[in-house]
Amino acid sequence: MVENAVRMVCGKCRSEQVTRDAWAEWNPAGQQWVLGAVFDYAYCHRCQGPAPVATVPVELPAAP
Ligand SMILES: [Zn+2]
Repeated sequence: MVENAVRMVCGKCRSEQVTRDAWAEWNPAGQQWVLGAVFDYAYCHRCQGPAPVATVPVELPAAP
C-alpha cells in the first residue's frame, strides 16, 4: 500500500460515496477520456447533495 494513503469521505456521513466535479478530456492517441481537471464541488451520493470532503488515513490491515 502507498505510504500515508488516505481515504476521501463525506464530511457529514463519512461515506466513501463522494465524487468531485471534473473535466474529462478526449485523448485521440489513447482513444479514451482522461481526467483533465478536478474542481472543488463535491457531491455525496448517500446524502444526495453537496458535501464537504474529509481526508482520513487508510487503516492498515490487521496484523495476523
Ligand atoms: Zn454523505
